[in-house]
Amino acid sequence: MPSSADAVVVGSGYTGLHAALRIARAGRSVVVLEAGQPGQGCSTRNGGQLSTSIKPDLTTLTSRHGAETARAILAEGVASRAYVEDFVAQEGIDCNFRCSGRFHAAAHPRAWHKLCKIADGTDITLVPRERQRAELGTDFYHGGAIFHRHASLDPARYHAGLLDRVRAAGALVVPECPATALEEQGLGVTVRTPHGVIETRNVVLATNGYSGPLSRWHRRRIVPVGSYIIATQELSPDLVRRLFPTDRIASDSRRVVYYYRASPDGRRILFGGRSSAGELGARVAAERLRRQMVRLFPELGTVRITHSWMGYVGYTFDTLAHTGARGRIHHAMGYCGSGVGMASYLGMKAGLRVLGDGQGRTALMTPRFPAHTLYRGDPWFLPAAVTAYRMLDRVGL
Ligand SMILES: Cc1cc2nc3c(=O)[nH]c(=O)nc-3n(C[C@H](O)[C@H](O)[C@H](O)COP(=O)(O)OP(=O)(O)OC[C@H]3O[C@@H](n4cnc5c(N)ncnc54)[C@H](O)[C@@H]3O)c2cc1C
Repeated sequence: MPSSADAVVVGSGYTGLHAALRIARAGRSVVVLEAGQPGQGCSTRNGGQLSTSIKPDLTTLTSRHGAETARAILAEGVASRAYVEDFVAQEGIDCNFRCSGRFHAAAHPRAWHKLCKIADGTDITLVPRERQRAELGTDFYHGGAIFHRHASLDPARYHAGLLDRVRAAGALVVPECPATALEEQGLGVTVRTPHGVIETRNVVLATNGYSGPLSRWHRRRIVPVGSYIIATQELSPDLVRRLFPTDRIASDSRRVVYYYRASPDGRRILFGGRSSAGELGARVAAERLRRQMVRLFPELGTVRITHSWMGYVGYTFDTLAHTGARGRIHHAMGYCGSGVGMASYLGMKAGLRVLGDGQGRTALMTPRFPAHTLYRGDPWFLPAAVTAYRMLDRVGL
Protein backbone atom coordinates (compact mmCIF):
# COMPACT_ATOMS: atom_id res chain seq x y z
CA MET A 1 0.00 0.00 0.00
CA PRO A 2 1.55 3.34 -0.98
CA SER A 3 1.44 6.04 1.69
CA SER A 4 0.27 8.67 -0.80
CA ALA A 5 -1.43 8.95 -4.20
CA ASP A 6 -2.78 11.75 -6.37
CA ALA A 7 -6.25 10.17 -6.12
CA VAL A 8 -7.94 7.38 -4.19
CA VAL A 9 -11.01 5.74 -5.69
CA VAL A 10 -13.30 3.83 -3.32
CA GLY A 11 -15.13 0.99 -5.12
CA SER A 12 -14.06 -0.97 -8.21
CA GLY A 13 -17.26 -1.20 -10.23
CA TYR A 14 -17.82 0.64 -13.50
CA THR A 15 -17.95 4.02 -11.73
CA GLY A 16 -14.69 3.60 -9.86
CA LEU A 17 -12.76 2.02 -12.71
CA HIS A 18 -13.80 4.59 -15.33
CA ALA A 19 -12.79 7.37 -12.93
CA ALA A 20 -9.47 5.64 -12.20
CA LEU A 21 -8.73 5.09 -15.90
CA ARG A 22 -9.15 8.77 -16.76
CA ILE A 23 -6.95 9.86 -13.88
CA ALA A 24 -4.24 7.24 -14.48
CA ARG A 25 -4.05 7.96 -18.21
CA ALA A 26 -3.37 11.61 -17.39
CA GLY A 27 -0.20 10.44 -15.65
CA ARG A 28 -1.45 10.73 -12.05
CA SER A 29 -1.03 8.05 -9.40
CA VAL A 30 -4.30 6.32 -8.46
CA VAL A 31 -5.18 3.69 -5.86
CA VAL A 32 -8.51 1.89 -6.19
CA LEU A 33 -9.70 0.42 -2.87
CA GLU A 34 -12.17 -2.44 -3.01
CA ALA A 35 -13.81 -4.00 0.05
CA GLY A 36 -14.23 -7.36 -1.71
CA GLN A 37 -12.92 -8.64 -5.03
CA PRO A 38 -12.76 -6.24 -8.01
CA GLY A 39 -16.25 -5.71 -9.41
CA GLN A 40 -17.86 -7.65 -6.59
CA GLY A 41 -20.74 -5.18 -6.32
CA CYS A 42 -23.21 -4.88 -9.20
CA SER A 43 -20.75 -4.43 -12.05
CA THR A 44 -20.05 -8.13 -12.71
CA ARG A 45 -23.52 -9.49 -11.99
CA ASN A 46 -26.05 -7.28 -13.75
CA GLY A 47 -28.37 -8.01 -16.68
CA GLY A 48 -26.10 -6.33 -19.24
CA GLN A 49 -28.93 -4.16 -20.58
CA LEU A 50 -27.93 -0.68 -21.77
CA SER A 51 -30.56 1.96 -22.11
CA THR A 52 -30.70 5.63 -23.08
CA SER A 53 -33.50 6.40 -20.65
CA ILE A 54 -33.59 8.59 -17.56
CA LYS A 55 -36.28 7.56 -15.05
CA PRO A 56 -38.12 10.88 -14.48
CA ASP A 57 -39.89 12.10 -17.62
CA LEU A 58 -39.45 15.51 -19.28
CA THR A 59 -42.43 17.06 -17.45
CA THR A 60 -41.15 15.97 -14.02
CA LEU A 61 -37.60 17.06 -14.78
CA THR A 62 -38.79 20.42 -16.13
CA SER A 63 -40.83 21.13 -13.00
CA ARG A 64 -37.81 20.35 -10.80
CA HIS A 65 -34.88 21.76 -12.78
CA GLY A 66 -36.26 24.03 -15.52
CA ALA A 67 -36.68 23.24 -19.21
CA GLU A 68 -33.08 23.66 -20.31
CA THR A 69 -31.54 21.44 -17.60
CA ALA A 70 -34.34 18.88 -18.08
CA ARG A 71 -33.48 18.52 -21.76
CA ALA A 72 -29.76 18.38 -20.94
CA ILE A 73 -30.35 15.61 -18.37
CA LEU A 74 -32.28 13.53 -20.92
CA ALA A 75 -29.44 14.04 -23.42
CA GLU A 76 -27.00 12.60 -20.86
CA GLY A 77 -28.96 9.33 -20.98
CA VAL A 78 -28.30 9.11 -24.72
CA ALA A 79 -24.66 10.16 -24.25
CA SER A 80 -24.03 7.47 -21.62
CA ARG A 81 -25.13 4.69 -23.93
CA ALA A 82 -23.00 6.09 -26.81
CA TYR A 83 -20.01 6.45 -24.46
CA VAL A 84 -19.99 2.73 -23.66
CA GLU A 85 -20.30 1.73 -27.31
CA ASP A 86 -17.39 3.99 -28.31
CA PHE A 87 -15.29 2.95 -25.33
CA VAL A 88 -15.70 -0.77 -25.96
CA ALA A 89 -14.89 -0.33 -29.66
CA GLN A 90 -11.86 1.92 -29.11
CA GLU A 91 -10.40 -0.31 -26.40
CA GLY A 92 -11.20 -3.50 -28.30
CA ILE A 93 -12.98 -5.04 -25.28
CA ASP A 94 -14.49 -8.38 -26.23
CA CYS A 95 -17.76 -8.31 -24.28
CA ASN A 96 -20.43 -9.18 -26.81
CA PHE A 97 -21.62 -5.55 -27.17
CA ARG A 98 -24.62 -5.56 -29.50
CA CYS A 99 -26.97 -2.82 -30.68
CA SER A 100 -29.74 -5.30 -30.01
CA GLY A 101 -32.58 -2.86 -29.28
CA ARG A 102 -35.05 -3.46 -26.47
CA PHE A 103 -38.62 -4.75 -26.55
CA HIS A 104 -40.37 -2.87 -23.75
CA ALA A 105 -43.66 -4.63 -23.07
CA ALA A 106 -46.89 -3.03 -21.84
CA ALA A 107 -48.09 -4.96 -18.78
CA HIS A 108 -51.40 -3.06 -18.73
CA PRO A 109 -53.57 -1.37 -21.42
CA ARG A 110 -52.73 2.00 -19.80
CA ALA A 111 -49.03 1.31 -20.34
CA TRP A 112 -49.74 0.61 -24.01
CA HIS A 113 -51.44 4.03 -24.34
CA LYS A 114 -48.42 5.68 -22.72
CA LEU A 115 -46.10 3.96 -25.19
CA CYS A 116 -48.31 5.19 -28.07
CA LYS A 117 -47.65 8.77 -26.89
CA ILE A 118 -43.86 8.48 -26.85
CA ALA A 119 -43.34 6.33 -29.96
CA ASP A 120 -41.73 8.44 -32.70
CA GLY A 121 -41.51 5.89 -35.53
CA THR A 122 -37.69 5.95 -35.65
CA ASP A 123 -35.99 5.49 -32.26
CA ILE A 124 -39.12 4.02 -30.70
CA THR A 125 -41.56 1.94 -32.78
CA LEU A 126 -44.79 0.34 -31.61
CA VAL A 127 -45.58 -3.37 -31.76
CA PRO A 128 -49.30 -4.01 -31.23
CA ARG A 129 -50.47 -7.08 -29.33
CA GLU A 130 -51.35 -9.03 -32.47
CA ARG A 131 -47.74 -8.73 -33.73
CA GLN A 132 -46.12 -9.21 -30.31
CA ARG A 133 -45.09 -12.82 -30.93
CA ALA A 134 -42.70 -11.59 -33.62
CA GLU A 135 -40.74 -9.99 -30.75
CA LEU A 136 -41.35 -12.15 -27.71
CA GLY A 137 -42.79 -15.65 -27.27
CA THR A 138 -45.61 -14.63 -24.93
CA ASP A 139 -49.24 -13.45 -25.03
CA PHE A 140 -48.99 -11.94 -21.55
CA TYR A 141 -48.58 -8.30 -22.62
CA HIS A 142 -50.76 -5.68 -24.31
CA GLY A 143 -48.23 -4.94 -27.02
CA GLY A 144 -45.00 -3.02 -26.57
CA ALA A 145 -42.43 -0.81 -28.22
CA ILE A 146 -38.98 -1.38 -29.65
CA PHE A 147 -36.35 1.03 -28.33
CA HIS A 148 -33.91 0.70 -31.20
CA ARG A 149 -30.99 2.48 -29.53
CA HIS A 150 -30.84 0.23 -26.48
CA ALA A 151 -28.05 -2.32 -26.43
CA SER A 152 -26.65 -5.31 -24.59
CA LEU A 153 -23.32 -6.67 -23.43
CA ASP A 154 -21.79 -9.33 -21.21
CA PRO A 155 -21.36 -7.38 -17.94
CA ALA A 156 -18.55 -9.38 -16.37
CA ARG A 157 -16.46 -9.46 -19.55
CA TYR A 158 -16.96 -5.72 -19.92
CA HIS A 159 -15.74 -5.26 -16.33
CA ALA A 160 -12.76 -7.62 -16.86
CA GLY A 161 -11.68 -5.69 -19.98
CA LEU A 162 -12.02 -2.39 -18.13
CA LEU A 163 -10.01 -3.70 -15.16
CA ASP A 164 -7.20 -4.82 -17.49
CA ARG A 165 -7.04 -1.32 -19.02
CA VAL A 166 -7.03 0.33 -15.59
CA ARG A 167 -4.11 -1.82 -14.42
CA ALA A 168 -2.26 -1.32 -17.71
CA ALA A 169 -2.63 2.46 -17.22
CA GLY A 170 -0.71 2.14 -13.94
CA ALA A 171 -3.50 2.34 -11.36
CA LEU A 172 -3.16 0.09 -8.31
CA VAL A 173 -6.33 -1.90 -7.57
CA VAL A 174 -6.29 -3.26 -4.01
CA PRO A 175 -8.85 -6.01 -3.26
CA GLU A 176 -10.08 -6.92 0.24
CA CYS A 177 -9.17 -3.44 1.42
CA PRO A 178 -12.14 -1.30 2.50
CA ALA A 179 -11.72 2.41 3.11
CA THR A 180 -12.77 2.76 6.75
CA ALA A 181 -12.47 6.53 7.25
CA LEU A 182 -12.06 9.68 5.16
CA GLU A 183 -10.62 12.70 6.99
CA GLU A 184 -10.41 15.95 5.06
CA GLN A 185 -7.76 18.38 6.23
CA GLY A 186 -6.17 21.34 4.48
CA LEU A 187 -5.57 20.52 0.84
CA GLY A 188 -5.93 16.79 1.16
CA VAL A 189 -7.75 13.75 2.51
CA THR A 190 -6.43 11.02 4.79
CA VAL A 191 -7.90 7.66 3.79
CA ARG A 192 -7.76 4.94 6.46
CA THR A 193 -7.81 1.23 5.62
CA PRO A 194 -7.01 -1.95 7.60
CA HIS A 195 -3.77 -2.16 5.58
CA GLY A 196 -2.50 1.36 6.09
CA VAL A 197 -3.21 5.06 5.62
CA ILE A 198 -3.04 6.93 2.30
CA GLU A 199 -2.70 10.69 1.94
CA THR A 200 -4.32 12.00 -1.23
CA ARG A 201 -5.55 15.19 -2.81
CA ASN A 202 -8.83 13.77 -4.15
CA VAL A 203 -11.16 10.89 -3.36
CA VAL A 204 -13.79 9.46 -5.71
CA LEU A 205 -16.55 7.70 -3.82
CA ALA A 206 -17.88 4.99 -6.16
CA THR A 207 -19.77 2.77 -3.74
CA ASN A 208 -23.35 3.17 -5.08
CA GLY A 209 -25.71 0.50 -3.59
CA TYR A 210 -22.92 -0.62 -1.24
CA SER A 211 -22.43 2.81 0.36
CA GLY A 212 -21.92 1.98 4.04
CA PRO A 213 -20.93 4.02 7.09
CA LEU A 214 -17.85 5.52 5.35
CA SER A 215 -19.77 8.68 4.48
CA ARG A 216 -22.96 9.29 6.41
CA TRP A 217 -23.92 12.14 4.07
CA HIS A 218 -23.94 9.83 1.02
CA ARG A 219 -25.49 6.93 2.88
CA ARG A 220 -28.51 9.06 3.73
CA ARG A 221 -29.06 9.69 0.03
CA ILE A 222 -28.68 6.19 -1.40
CA VAL A 223 -31.27 3.46 -0.84
CA PRO A 224 -29.86 -0.06 -1.43
CA VAL A 225 -32.44 -2.21 -3.23
CA GLY A 226 -31.87 -5.89 -4.04
CA SER A 227 -32.20 -6.94 -7.66
CA TYR A 228 -32.27 -10.67 -8.45
CA ILE A 229 -31.52 -12.79 -11.52
CA ILE A 230 -32.02 -16.45 -12.39
CA ALA A 231 -30.53 -18.41 -15.29
CA THR A 232 -32.20 -21.43 -16.83
CA GLN A 233 -30.46 -24.65 -17.73
CA GLU A 234 -29.14 -24.79 -21.30
CA LEU A 235 -32.09 -24.83 -23.69
CA SER A 236 -32.49 -25.93 -27.29
CA PRO A 237 -31.59 -23.13 -29.74
CA ASP A 238 -35.08 -23.52 -31.28
CA LEU A 239 -36.78 -22.76 -27.97
CA VAL A 240 -34.59 -19.70 -27.28
CA ARG A 241 -35.31 -18.41 -30.81
CA ARG A 242 -39.05 -18.95 -30.33
CA LEU A 243 -39.03 -16.93 -27.10
CA PHE A 244 -36.66 -14.21 -28.37
CA PRO A 245 -37.13 -14.25 -32.18
CA THR A 246 -35.27 -10.94 -32.66
CA ASP A 247 -32.73 -11.55 -29.85
CA ARG A 248 -33.45 -8.18 -28.27
CA ILE A 249 -33.22 -7.49 -24.57
CA ALA A 250 -36.63 -7.12 -22.93
CA SER A 251 -38.28 -5.45 -19.97
CA ASP A 252 -41.80 -4.51 -19.00
CA SER A 253 -43.67 -1.42 -17.93
CA ARG A 254 -44.25 -2.40 -14.30
CA ARG A 255 -42.78 -0.22 -11.55
CA VAL A 256 -41.55 -3.43 -9.96
CA VAL A 257 -39.94 -4.25 -13.27
CA TYR A 258 -38.92 -7.58 -14.82
CA TYR A 259 -36.04 -7.60 -17.30
CA TYR A 260 -34.86 -10.57 -19.31
CA ARG A 261 -32.90 -11.71 -22.33
CA ALA A 262 -31.18 -14.67 -23.90
CA SER A 263 -27.68 -15.13 -22.45
CA PRO A 264 -24.84 -13.78 -24.61
CA ASP A 265 -24.08 -17.34 -25.82
CA GLY A 266 -27.76 -17.76 -26.77
CA ARG A 267 -28.20 -20.93 -24.71
CA ARG A 268 -30.11 -19.81 -21.61
CA ILE A 269 -32.72 -17.32 -20.52
CA LEU A 270 -31.61 -14.78 -17.91
CA PHE A 271 -34.62 -13.46 -16.02
CA GLY A 272 -34.30 -10.62 -13.52
CA GLY A 273 -36.39 -8.51 -11.21
CA ARG A 274 -37.61 -8.30 -7.68
CA SER A 275 -39.62 -11.20 -6.37
CA SER A 276 -40.63 -10.04 -2.88
CA ALA A 277 -41.37 -6.96 -0.79
CA GLY A 278 -38.38 -7.55 1.55
CA GLU A 279 -34.92 -8.88 0.70
CA LEU A 280 -34.58 -12.64 0.28
CA GLY A 281 -31.66 -14.99 -0.19
CA ALA A 282 -30.92 -15.67 -3.85
CA ARG A 283 -32.02 -19.32 -3.47
CA VAL A 284 -35.48 -18.48 -2.10
CA ALA A 285 -35.89 -15.63 -4.58
CA ALA A 286 -35.10 -18.05 -7.41
CA GLU A 287 -38.32 -20.03 -7.05
CA ARG A 288 -40.43 -16.86 -6.94
CA LEU A 289 -38.70 -15.43 -9.99
CA ARG A 290 -39.12 -18.75 -11.78
CA ARG A 291 -42.90 -18.57 -11.21
CA GLN A 292 -42.98 -15.06 -12.72
CA MET A 293 -40.94 -16.25 -15.68
CA VAL A 294 -43.31 -19.17 -16.29
CA ARG A 295 -46.33 -16.82 -16.15
CA LEU A 296 -44.79 -15.01 -19.12
CA PHE A 297 -43.35 -18.05 -20.86
CA PRO A 298 -45.45 -21.16 -20.00
CA GLU A 299 -43.13 -23.16 -22.28
CA LEU A 300 -40.45 -22.85 -19.57
CA GLY A 301 -42.65 -24.62 -16.99
CA THR A 302 -40.49 -27.75 -16.73
CA VAL A 303 -37.13 -26.08 -17.22
CA ARG A 304 -34.58 -26.19 -14.38
CA ILE A 305 -32.99 -23.09 -12.85
CA THR A 306 -29.25 -23.62 -12.54
CA HIS A 307 -28.04 -20.24 -11.22
CA SER A 308 -29.46 -17.50 -9.04
CA TRP A 309 -27.80 -14.36 -7.69
CA MET A 310 -28.53 -10.87 -6.47
CA GLY A 311 -26.91 -7.49 -5.86
CA TYR A 312 -27.78 -4.10 -4.40
CA VAL A 313 -28.59 -1.28 -6.80
CA GLY A 314 -28.53 2.29 -5.46
CA TYR A 315 -31.82 4.22 -5.61
CA THR A 316 -32.22 7.92 -4.89
CA PHE A 317 -35.20 9.87 -3.55
CA ASP A 318 -35.67 11.68 -6.88
CA THR A 319 -34.93 8.59 -9.06
CA LEU A 320 -32.06 10.47 -10.69
CA ALA A 321 -28.34 9.64 -10.67
CA HIS A 322 -26.16 12.22 -8.92
CA THR A 323 -22.57 13.31 -9.28
CA GLY A 324 -20.58 16.18 -7.79
CA ALA A 325 -18.22 16.85 -4.90
CA ARG A 326 -18.22 17.87 -1.26
CA GLY A 327 -14.84 19.42 -0.69
CA ARG A 328 -12.26 16.97 -2.08
CA ILE A 329 -14.60 13.98 -1.98
CA HIS A 330 -16.18 13.44 -5.38
CA HIS A 331 -19.09 11.09 -5.94
CA ALA A 332 -21.09 9.47 -8.75
CA MET A 333 -23.94 7.17 -7.72
CA GLY A 334 -27.68 6.51 -7.59
CA TYR A 335 -28.29 4.92 -10.98
CA CYS A 336 -31.62 3.45 -9.83
CA GLY A 337 -31.01 0.05 -11.40
CA SER A 338 -29.75 1.33 -14.77
CA GLY A 339 -26.05 1.86 -14.27
CA VAL A 340 -24.21 -0.06 -16.97
CA GLY A 341 -24.13 3.02 -19.19
CA MET A 342 -24.57 5.78 -16.61
CA ALA A 343 -22.04 4.49 -14.04
CA SER A 344 -19.44 4.19 -16.80
CA TYR A 345 -20.20 7.68 -18.09
CA LEU A 346 -20.42 9.47 -14.74
CA GLY A 347 -17.32 7.64 -13.46
CA MET A 348 -15.43 8.97 -16.48
CA LYS A 349 -16.85 12.49 -15.83
CA ALA A 350 -15.80 12.35 -12.14
CA GLY A 351 -12.29 11.35 -13.23
CA LEU A 352 -12.14 14.38 -15.54
CA ARG A 353 -13.24 16.72 -12.74
CA VAL A 354 -10.52 15.36 -10.45
CA LEU A 355 -8.10 16.41 -13.20
CA GLY A 356 -9.68 19.87 -13.26
CA ASP A 357 -10.96 19.29 -16.81
CA GLY A 358 -14.09 21.30 -17.67
CA GLN A 359 -15.33 18.41 -19.85
CA GLY A 360 -16.16 16.69 -16.59
CA ARG A 361 -19.21 18.88 -16.10
CA THR A 362 -22.57 17.21 -16.65
CA ALA A 363 -26.22 18.17 -16.28
CA LEU A 364 -26.44 15.47 -13.60
CA MET A 365 -24.48 17.72 -11.22
CA THR A 366 -27.83 18.98 -9.99
CA PRO A 367 -27.45 21.25 -6.93
CA ARG A 368 -29.78 19.18 -4.75
CA PHE A 369 -29.07 15.53 -3.89
CA PRO A 370 -32.12 14.82 -1.72
CA ALA A 371 -32.06 12.96 1.60
CA HIS A 372 -34.99 12.06 3.85
CA THR A 373 -35.27 13.03 7.51
CA LEU A 374 -36.33 9.53 8.57
CA TYR A 375 -33.70 7.67 6.56
CA ARG A 376 -30.20 6.86 7.84
CA GLY A 377 -29.18 4.03 5.50
CA ASP A 378 -31.51 1.21 6.54
CA PRO A 379 -34.41 1.08 4.04
CA TRP A 380 -37.09 0.11 6.59
CA PHE A 381 -39.80 1.48 4.29
CA LEU A 382 -38.89 -0.72 1.29
CA PRO A 383 -41.34 -3.62 1.88
CA ALA A 384 -44.25 -1.15 2.15
CA ALA A 385 -43.06 0.78 -0.93
CA VAL A 386 -42.72 -2.39 -3.04
CA THR A 387 -46.20 -3.57 -1.95
CA ALA A 388 -47.69 -0.18 -2.88
CA TYR A 389 -45.92 -0.22 -6.26
CA ARG A 390 -47.26 -3.71 -6.98
CA MET A 391 -50.80 -2.46 -6.31
CA LEU A 392 -50.25 0.46 -8.70
CA ASP A 393 -48.86 -2.02 -11.26
CA ARG A 394 -52.05 -4.05 -11.04
CA VAL A 395 -54.14 -1.05 -12.10
CA GLY A 396 -51.55 0.20 -14.57
CA LEU A 397 -50.73 3.47 -12.79
C1 LIG B 1 -28.99 -8.23 -10.47
C2 LIG B 1 -28.71 -6.87 -11.08
C3 LIG B 1 -29.06 -6.62 -12.39
C4 LIG B 1 -28.80 -5.38 -12.98
N1 LIG B 1 -29.10 -5.22 -14.29
C5 LIG B 1 -28.78 -4.06 -14.90
C6 LIG B 1 -28.98 -3.90 -16.30
O1 LIG B 1 -29.39 -4.82 -16.99
N2 LIG B 1 -28.70 -2.69 -16.85
C7 LIG B 1 -28.19 -1.65 -16.11
O2 LIG B 1 -27.95 -0.58 -16.66
N3 LIG B 1 -27.95 -1.80 -14.79
C8 LIG B 1 -28.20 -2.97 -14.18
N4 LIG B 1 -27.93 -3.13 -12.85
C9 LIG B 1 -27.32 -2.00 -12.11
C10 LIG B 1 -25.84 -1.82 -12.46
O3 LIG B 1 -25.17 -3.05 -12.40
C11 LIG B 1 -25.22 -0.83 -11.46
O4 LIG B 1 -25.95 0.39 -11.50
C12 LIG B 1 -23.75 -0.51 -11.76
O5 LIG B 1 -23.01 -1.69 -11.92
C13 LIG B 1 -23.20 0.35 -10.63
O6 LIG B 1 -21.79 0.40 -10.75
P1 LIG B 1 -20.96 1.07 -9.58
O7 LIG B 1 -19.54 0.95 -9.97
O8 LIG B 1 -21.47 2.42 -9.28
O9 LIG B 1 -21.28 0.19 -8.28
P2 LIG B 1 -20.91 -1.31 -7.93
O10 LIG B 1 -20.56 -2.08 -9.15
O11 LIG B 1 -22.02 -1.84 -7.10
O12 LIG B 1 -19.57 -1.18 -7.10
C14 LIG B 1 -19.52 -0.59 -5.82
C15 LIG B 1 -18.32 -1.21 -5.13
O13 LIG B 1 -17.98 -0.45 -3.97
C16 LIG B 1 -17.38 -1.34 -3.06
N5 LIG B 1 -17.34 -0.70 -1.73
C17 LIG B 1 -18.37 -0.29 -0.99
N6 LIG B 1 -17.90 0.31 0.16
C18 LIG B 1 -16.54 0.28 0.09
C19 LIG B 1 -15.52 0.72 0.96
N7 LIG B 1 -15.78 1.36 2.11
N8 LIG B 1 -14.22 0.52 0.59
C20 LIG B 1 -13.92 -0.12 -0.58
N9 LIG B 1 -14.88 -0.56 -1.45
C21 LIG B 1 -16.18 -0.37 -1.11
C22 LIG B 1 -18.29 -2.56 -3.13
O14 LIG B 1 -17.67 -3.72 -2.61
C23 LIG B 1 -18.57 -2.64 -4.64
O15 LIG B 1 -17.68 -3.54 -5.29
C24 LIG B 1 -28.18 -4.35 -12.22
C25 LIG B 1 -27.80 -4.61 -10.90
C26 LIG B 1 -28.06 -5.86 -10.34
C27 LIG B 1 -27.66 -6.13 -8.92
